[in-house]
Amino acid sequence: MNKARPHRQQAKFARLRRHLDLSLDPDKPRRLRTRSARYAAALAEQLGLLERPKGCSWCRRRSRLERHHWDYDQPLLVTFLCPDCHDIADGMVSRQEIA
Ligand SMILES: [Zn+2]
Repeated sequence: MNKARPHRQQAKFARLRRHLDLSLDPDKPRRLRTRSARYAAALAEQLGLLERPKGCSWCRRRSRLERHHWDYDQPLLVTFLCPDCHDIADGMVSRQEIA
């Protein structure tokens, strides 16, 4: 098992790079780009590039945390929020898009 691990890590980095490229490709439909941005953030977390805090970044509640993207053009810029704060954050983002 140990032998396979470095290779798997490399494969994950390759996938991370591919999803980062996809998420920033202006020729791709938005739906695909946002999906790749979410994949990229999940992979980055698995690789230890993103650190998940013990509690919600806003209210500190220890709950199931979700990754909130402020801007899908910045796939690795995420805030870890509880579901309640995530709702608030999503509301802020959608208002911003309307304005
Ligand atoms: Zn919260």
